[in-house]
Amino acid sequence: MLYRQRKLDTPHGELQTPVLFPVSNIGKRSSDNTPEYTDSIPDLSTAMVNTRAIRNRKAQWDRLQGGETLRDEMGVTDDTIVFADSGGFDFQNRKIDTTPAKTLATQRKIGADIFGTVDAPLSRDNRQAKNQRRISRSINLALEASEKHSGEEPLFASVHGYDPETVRNTIRHLEEEGTFDGYAIGSLVPIRTDYEKVTKIILAARRATDKHLHVYGLGGLTYQPLLLYMGVDSFDSSAFIRSAGNRNYLMPGFGGEPLKNIEDLSHLPCACPVCSTRTFETIREDRDLLVQHNLWALALELRRFRYMYSIGEELETYLDLRFQGNEVTQRAYQMAKQQVRRLT
Ligand SMILES: [Zn+2]
Repeated sequence: MLYRQRKLDTPHGELQTPVLFPVSNIGKRSSDNTPEYTDSIPDLSTAMVNTRAIRNRKAQWDRLQGGETLRDEMGVTDDTIVFADSGGFDFQNRKIDTTPAKTLATQRKIGADIFGTVDAPLSRDNRQAKNQRRISRSINLALEASEKHSGEEPLFASVHGYDPETVRNTIRHLEEEGTFDGYAIGSLVPIRTDYEKVTKIILAARRATDKHLHVYGLGGLTYQPLLLYMGVDSFDSSAFIRSAGNRNYLMPGFGGEPLKNIEDLSHLPCACPVCSTRTFETIREDRDLLVQHNLWALALELRRFRYMYSIGEELETYLDLRFQGNEVTQRAYQMAKQQVRRLT
């Protein structure tokens, strides 16, 4: 079995893994903002922020320079564990406008607990040679960060590749040449519907290192159980915000349902603090409530998995049931299962 539970030491405390980092759109126009959740969901004292975006929002950056804390700006508790990625996703279509030294300084300044290295994400549409150059670039940027980083914050090297060999070789090379506390696999969001490719890449990474493994961007309801099953230690997601923007109600075990498809219902079938006491009508009319419920849905998915593990339930039996309802994800799980069985 590849599923595992571990602990990671960070400046703001010990992190129990596996864990989800909800993406925090800090400072974006208010309709995209992430509502407060760290008080109401006690096992979700985590957040993923974009270092580059924070640095580039002048008013906010000035406030942070002036002594305001990032956690105050975000409206989360002081012990929230913050993972700051480099903002590499912004470099998909533009030149890299930062350096490892500048990014590390910003990550330190905002009090981030986990640092992601600057990277150049891949695109499915790029020629292979271009993606190859970007892979090499990300490796060099990670090694430069490893050389310059001297703090206690865990440093995760961003790793890219569209085939298992590249990802395996990249991690082995970084392991030999640098000092990293973990690895974070990027560029998978554009190919997320190719479950076979994504699961092979993740399993190659899992085999290449025993260190902490993070997967960028795939922490939604469908992928979360797959990632847990493959032994991934953390993941992030903005699915709870995006789904609410599309008026989708997330249900653990089922996925998203457009609210407009729901008729004649007084209460939604969820016991989270949002849904248990409010009518369907009230939630439909309040985007923040929908975001909060959707985040609960992601948190409950993880809790359910941990519960199955803690009662000694055969995880494959649980997942057989969990993926029963959807042909596509069931096939993805079957593929992952075959590959995991070959590995273990
Ligand atoms: Zn709910």
